[in-house]
Amino acid sequence: MHELSLVKSIIDLLADHAEKNGWHRVSRVTLRIGRMRQVIPDVMKFSFSVAAEGTALEGAELEIIELPLAGRCRACGYAWEEELFSCPKCGSSDSEITHGMELDIDSVEVEDQDAPKDKHSPICNGGR
Ligand SMILES: [Zn+2]
Repeated sequence: MHELSLVKSIIDLLADHAEKNGWHRVSRVTLRIGRMRQVIPDVMKFSFSVAAEGTALEGAELEIIELPLAGRCRACGYAWEEELFSCPKCGSSDSEITHGMELDIDSVEVEDQDAPKDKHSPICNGGR
């Protein structure tokens, strides 16, 4: 289950951001993941909810945008966007994958950011 380790690195990164930027609660995280990563979205979501426990990301919704694979022929330079391992143009198998290994954070929605919203009790909001 490599989804868990992927998710953990993302959560570590975002939890760190959350701390620095005063995010108390993150409501949604959108990731862009290339097909070559071979993640199963449902497993990813489940791993996320488990790994997010106890962080500002607890309860956040995880959205996954799957990015297609793309390759390019090293021999003739022809590019394609599907799972091909030999060039449809010249037949060379000397190809490289140009997209599909992405693992990026596309966007993060923060629900409760540090701003003195609660004007009634500015003194007693020191709880963690
Ligand atoms: Zn080619």
